[in-house]
Amino acid sequence: MSHKYTPTIGLEVHSELKTASKMFCGCPNDPEEKRPNVNVCPVCLGHPGTLPVPNAAAIEAILKVGFALGGKLPGVSKFDRKNYFYPDLPKGYQISQYDQPFVSGGELSGVAITRVHLEEDTGRLVHGTHNIEHKTGESGSDVSRFTLHDSSLVDFNRAGVPLMELVTEPVIHDSEIALRFAKELQLVLRYLGVSDADMEKGQMRVEANISVSTDPGKFGTKVEVKNLNSFRAVEGAIRYEIKRQSELLDEGGKVVQETRGWNEGKKKTFSQRLKESAHDYRYFPEPDIPPIDLSQLDLMRIKTEVPELPEAKRRRLRTEYGLSPERAEPLVAEPELAAYFEKSFSELLAMLEELGATERSDDLLFNYLTSDLKGLMNQAGVSFSGLKFAPENFAHLVFLVKAGTVGSRAAKDIMKKMFDTGLDPEEILKQEGLAQVSDEGELLDTVRAVIAENSGPVADYRAGKANVLQFLIGKAMGSLRGRGNPAVIKELLEKFLK
Ligand code: ADP
Ligand code: MG
Ligand code: ZN
Repeated sequence: MSHKYTPTIGLEVHSELKTASKMFCGCPNDPEEKRPNVNVCPVCLGHPGTLPVPNAAAIEAILKVGFALGGKLPGVSKFDRKNYFYPDLPKGYQISQYDQPFVSGGELSGVAITRVHLEEDTGRLVHGTHNIEHKTGESGSDVSRFTLHDSSLVDFNRAGVPLMELVTEPVIHDSEIALRFAKELQLVLRYLGVSDADMEKGQMRVEANISVSTDPGKFGTKVEVKNLNSFRAVEGAIRYEIKRQSELLDEGGKVVQETRGWNEGKKKTFSQRLKESAHDYRYFPEPDIPPIDLSQLDLMRIKTEVPELPEAKRRRLRTEYGLSPERAEPLVAEPELAAYFEKSFSELLAMLEELGATERSDDLLFNYLTSDLKGLMNQAGVSFSGLKFAPENFAHLVFLVKAGTVGSRAAKDIMKKMFDTGLDPEEILKQEGLAQVSDEGELLDTVRAVIAENSGPVADYRAGKANVLQFLIGKAMGSLRGRGNPAVIKELLEKFLK
């Protein structure tokens, strides 16, 4: 591929907000609803004469996003009608925002943001063959059944769901940065609790505008790729377009300003339609919704509801706990995991301090938490709020391992028991007799027996095969049912075999 072109990318991201009701009516906003057209009413079906009433929770959500991104809030914001015809939009226009969005400017992951505005989602078209069951009569007892081939039906459950649209400046120059931005935005929306932003479920949808230019000071003609439903698709579409446009220019061709789609199977974009522009939509102020005076809202409260954001948490986990970026990231991605780590780690520190230990290493706790405990949780489908024991009990287990009271194998058994019963590790330890044996006197008989029963390996070891020692330690651990302290066993073996 040619390197003489500078790519430029700007993103438009739509996210469905997680409110109880829809944007302009009282219908439930339930993305899990599978039955078509149950969450509908005259307002979201666009019946004439109905009046939209803005959802205050959706407005608070978008203002939170504005605070989180450091954007500017206007004195007054308003809604506008964006006119176009498509069967998923029964009114013939979408209520959106044109020149007075709720948020202007801001920044995330080093990418400048143009605006964030609020609008309503459309219905969902379902294409294909449909088996229809049509109930008529008083009690719905007359049922007629028929099949529609190659047809499209509309489900309006999603029509009118609050939708946030975020637009970035054309300041991104490669697919990795675009991807990092989209992932960070997903995290921010989840931290704020305003959207689940699950791309597979269509709760977050990305459009990428891409152009290439020979002159870094000038923009080339942009192409918009719509409906990118996964991070892989975002990255793939951007890479593909940069290559396609560069090759087109190399051959003396011209990029056409158009809207393209992404074919996941072929890993290619394809032309959909020539690009429409703002005047095609005949935007005008929504006459049925008065402009919203933001000074009437409790902005201070909304601002204080913004929690610690991913980037701040990332930095704090690194500085406060000395976590490497690789270790910090899974915690940043899962705030409940991070909270559990922080709580149990401070409990562990308190226990170690009582012993006079000053160590601040988090390795053991981190590993037990992110691989062992998380493994048990995933297997059983249990979340942190569903755990039967407290972070303190978990810290106690790690403490017992650090203190040498419990060996690493027994620790796993104890953790499983804790997981199942919620008992404190100390109790389980007593009940099951799982305490680690470190006392030389108690281990002596076992070590002697292992030496006596394994004369071959013992001879090999004495002949210089140092790694046989591991085998002998294993034998001793086996006969102690894993309770022996491997370090002490090793010392004893070395002493006897010298
Ligand atoms: P339109 O009016 O066609 O929707 P906008 O100026 O509103 O265009 O920009 C839409 C998106 O396209 C924004 O994310 C913006 O950053 C991006 N964009 C604008 N010009 C370019 C360009 N030349 N190359 C890549 N992206 C661009
Ligand atoms: Mg656009
Ligand atoms: Zn409704």
